[in-house]
Amino acid sequence: MYYKSTRDKSLNVTSAQAIAQGISADGGLFIPSEIPQISMEELRALADMRYDERANVVFGKFLTDFTPEEIAYCTSNAYNTKNFETENIAELTGAFGDAQILELWHGPTCAFKDMALQILPYLLTTSLKKNGEDKKVVILVATSGDTGKAALEGFKDVPGTEIMVFYPDHGVSSMQKRQMATQEGGNVAVCALEGNFDDCQNGVKKIFTDAAVKEKLAAAGRMFSSANSINWGRLAPQIVYYVSAYAEMAKRGDIAFGDTINVVVPTGNFGNILAAYYAKNMGVPIGKLICASNVNKVLTDFINTGVYDRNRDFYATCSPSMDILISSNLERLLFLLTDGDDAQIRDWFGKLSKDGRYEVTGDVLAKLQSDFVGGFCDDADTKKTIRDFKEKYGYTCDTHTAVAVKVYLDYLGQTGDTTRTLIASTASPYKFSASVLEAIEGTQSGADEYAQVAHLAEVSGLPVPASLAALKDKPVRFSEVIAKEDMESYVLKSMGIDG
Ligand SMILES: *Cc1c(COP(=O)(O)O)cnc(C)c1O
Repeated sequence: MYYKSTRDKSLNVTSAQAIAQGISADGGLFIPSEIPQISMEELRALADMRYDERANVVFGKFLTDFTPEEIAYCTSNAYNTKNFETENIAELTGAFGDAQILELWHGPTCAFKDMALQILPYLLTTSLKKNGEDKKVVILVATSGDTGKAALEGFKDVPGTEIMVFYPDHGVSSMQKRQMATQEGGNVAVCALEGNFDDCQNGVKKIFTDAAVKEKLAAAGRMFSSANSINWGRLAPQIVYYVSAYAEMAKRGDIAFGDTINVVVPTGNFGNILAAYYAKNMGVPIGKLICASNVNKVLTDFINTGVYDRNRDFYATCSPSMDILISSNLERLLFLLTDGDDAQIRDWFGKLSKDGRYEVTGDVLAKLQSDFVGGFCDDADTKKTIRDFKEKYGYTCDTHTAVAVKVYLDYLGQTGDTTRTLIASTASPYKFSASVLEAIEGTQSGADEYAQVAHLAEVSGLPVPASLAALKDKPVRFSEVIAKEDMESYVLKSMGIDG
């Protein structure tokens, strides 16, 4: 197996090259040349394995240039109880009606991004070694909240790496700020920026592509790399939990091996749901893939009409990690649905960057709709769903998961499709305590974040994740706020290189 680019199918690189490079030089995304298959017999065998062993099986099919020892080194360092609060790594709930919830937030930052960012540093450093690269890698991240913390926790004290995260000083929640400002590790730096998220992102991009900075880094034995969500090293780990969840459901008798399940995913950048599509095409019996959006419903409209149009108002919602108008990973799906028509992809994504809009052909729309259903939910319904679901089942979900639950219930009402359904839960309710409490109690509380966490513990009966509880007593290590113009000198200074 090799990897090609969605914008140049003649490209031919190994998975180690794809992971080290992150994005293809032509602007396309790396994509495996074929989708490997998993048999029902293999799925049965997974049932008796630990999560990291299941991951070895799935990675073995995609990262064919890695040795089994290299893969096991990565999975065992990532998926263990030092990093996750549960031995199962991803936790499957019992049934709520015809649905079960897959909790993907038992990692160190309480959001599903840990599932990929706990292993990415190992995949990346192993890839660099395989490529004969002996420089230390420097990861630069611009974040609006969740990704930065998950990347910091993933790369913290990983040998051969350094990580620097920039966030907008007034653009993240107080819990998110505290999570980053107290970050531990000898190879980390965190810096707030006077500006918004776009300023952070532009600044990082500029430093990445600055030849003079690159030279200074090389002279100091270092090179830049990326932990961006379009890196194949972030997508592959997400396929694992869908394959694993199917085996787990069958093992527990929730379904029989061979039964079809539907999957619902609260979606932003389309990475998580694309991983479920890969699992389906590997042979995991998955029927419908239900793509749930908040009011930034560009994907719902796309699935229903075939028109992708980002020219619309942007809304800040109570499910902020899904406030996205450009879903990058959709490019990989369209490459697959057009049977690898790279010219067509270049045309559509050229139009997207020029006009903010493209429309797919009728046959592609038909294929899209045979696998995907799109739905959306506004903030009022998100909060009502949190309250109703808790009342009916005693289960407290976060705002992102609630969007998925509501879209699933709408789908169920419209179709009567009682296929057993897996709902991906992407964040702990504690990560969004204020909104979750407001949903349950009907009023906004002015209390500070820890009072709210304590109150949510009473109301929900859920244990407070140790990593969030511990933040309260951790000293602030990073309080620097800089101007956009000073990002480059900050980066160089952090590495001990003279500007
Ligand atoms: C990132 C994120 C999402 C969106 O996932 P995508 O893979 O970008 O679609 C949903 N929920 C939470 C809590 C997230 O952090």
